[in-house]
Amino acid sequence: MHRPIAALFALASSTLPVLAQPDARPGDPVVRYDNHRIVTITPRNPRDLLTLDALGIEHMGCEIRRDQPADFRVPPDRFDALVASDIPFTVTVQNLQAVIDAESARLLAPRPRTASWFDDYKNLAAVEAYMAELAALRPDLVTLFDIGHSIEGRPIRAMRIANDAADLGRCKPAMLLNATQHAREWITVMNAMYVADQLVRLEGSDAYVTNLLAGADFIIVPVANPDGYVHTWTTERFWRKNRRPNAGGSFGVDNNRNWGHMWGVPGLGWAAGSDDPESSIYWGTGPFSEPETQALRDLVLARPEIKGHNDIHSYGQLILWSWGWSPLPTAHQAQLAATGEAMRLAIRAVHGRNYQPGPIYSTIYAVSGSSVDWFYQEQKVLSMSYELRGGSFNPPPNDILPCARETFPATCIQAEAMIARHQFLSDWNRDCIHDILDILDFIADLDAQDPRADLSPDGIVDILDFLTFIELFADER
Ligand SMILES: [Zn+2]
Repeated sequence: MHRPIAALFALASSTLPVLAQPDARPGDPVVRYDNHRIVTITPRNPRDLLTLDALGIEHMGCEIRRDQPADFRVPPDRFDALVASDIPFTVTVQNLQAVIDAESARLLAPRPRTASWFDDYKNLAAVEAYMAELAALRPDLVTLFDIGHSIEGRPIRAMRIANDAADLGRCKPAMLLNATQHAREWITVMNAMYVADQLVRLEGSDAYVTNLLAGADFIIVPVANPDGYVHTWTTERFWRKNRRPNAGGSFGVDNNRNWGHMWGVPGLGWAAGSDDPESSIYWGTGPFSEPETQALRDLVLARPEIKGHNDIHSYGQLILWSWGWSPLPTAHQAQLAATGEAMRLAIRAVHGRNYQPGPIYSTIYAVSGSSVDWFYQEQKVLSMSYELRGGSFNPPPNDILPCARETFPATCIQAEAMIARHQFLSDWNRDCIHDILDILDFIADLDAQDPRADLSPDGIVDILDFLTFIELFADER
């Protein structure tokens, strides 16, 4: 029997599954956003935010900044209610599903073999494969390891990039980078991987990177929330949280509201966190209730050399530090602001992008249980957080490399600031911890007239060295 070719094509296309996500398999329950609009709103007051929340209109940024336009997603059946409210808005996307479909089609299309790894977004498998590729390239420099497992049992992979041959005779501080505490912020994965790529490829040939890695190690966790990340590739592009099955049938905890410093503080503000499991900023049943935050916490507890941290988010072009939970300045505001300003200038020097530096609370909004506050307060770590460039969670792929290239020097500057602050000079037993054992060890060396104890240094091991030691010790240097 003869069928016209056109009819065959029609048959073929009608049996092809409609995949709204690049990694969805036929039959997967893909969440669609047909005729959902994206609107830009500059909230005039907290009441506007509560009104939008009550209307079921979801904020689409990572954080909301005071008096700044923000993007919201309006389901088709809520649009009339938004019009009826007196909140001014501008429609920027008429049909969000068309944007997702275009992104999926692009990601599913064959890529030229010559394409750079950073030319487009990568799923979890591709990220892990590239981590292995970098490790194979420099086995002397790179170690891969798992820091724990997600709720759904996926390993959370880390890569340690360290020049262990560069012996300083003391502990070397380490800088931890993590991305995707919020699953939908895809550009953050690429950003963290670019740092790994540059460190691995430039160590030994580029003087600056070689010198940086002589003074500090890097530990990079590009996908800190693997379940959520996979979910954004298979099922729901704009999923933010992890995939915890909550009591009541909803899913997910906002991992960046789940950390153990000032966790679950009510009344701080609209974006601070929520005890409602259905909320996109649900803080969980307790501090560190989630295996993903536990894994990062335990990594830091097991490695006291970690003295720098950057929790990478998108979007908003910000460089943030503590406090998240309080409007008051921290005891280190001057140093943090100086580092933030140096990072801002480094970013601007690359492509002219202006990132705004500042404490989380005053720059965006109050946040309860953030990673940055826990690292800063509980672990005395120089902790910062980027909100990267881009006008949405799916900035075009040609934003990936410019974004990565402009923040890489700033990330290095943060590591330099960490090195300057944490030289472990009084960590006498070299265990990366300043404690009473160091004092006892130092006194023993002082007693024995060990030349290493001549800290003043004047060629004599005496009480002046002890005073110098105590000064360094008190300053945790
Ligand atoms: Zn985020």
